[in-house]
Amino acid sequence: MTSNDTIFGKIIRGEIPSKKIYEDVDLLAFDDIHPVADVHFLIIPKKFIATLADVTPEDATLLGKMLLLAPVLAKEQGLTDGFRTAINTGRMGRQDVYHLHIHVFGNRPGSVPLSTMTGA
Ligand code: AMP
Repeated sequence: MTSNDTIFGKIIRGEIPSKKIYEDVDLLAFDDIHPVADVHFLIIPKKFIATLADVTPEDATLLGKMLLLAPVLAKEQGLTDGFRTAINTGRMGRQDVYHLHIHVFGNRPGSVPLSTMTGA
C-alpha cells in the first residue's frame, strides 16, 4: 500500500479538505473529523509510513519531531493542563487509517478530565 491509498495521503496532497493547524516540510497536523474530546487533532508525517510497526531507525528524527510537536500544538489549542496521546497500531490496535498518526486530544481546563483508559 502507498500513501496514495489512504485518506491522509489525499489530505497531504490537498485532494480532500482538512482543518490544518500546522504544516512544515515533514509534518502535517489537522483536526480529527470525529473528535472524542474538546480538542482532538492528528499529527502525521508527510512521508508514507503505514504503522508504528513499520518504522525503522532512519525514522528516528521524524518520530522525534512528531512527539516534540504534540505539546506545542496542544498548548496552542488550549490544552494547557494536560492531554492524551495515542498511536493505534494495526488490526489489534484498532488502526483504521494506515498512515502513521499520533492522536492528541483532551478537554480544556475547566471542563472534565478525560475518563481513565480501561485498556480493553
Ligand atoms: P485510527 O483508528 O487511529 O486509524 O484513527 C483514524 C482517525 O482518523 C479517526 O479518529 C478518524 O476520525 C480520523 N479521520 C478519518 N478521516 C478523516 C478526515 N478526512 N479528516 C480528519 N480526520 C479523519
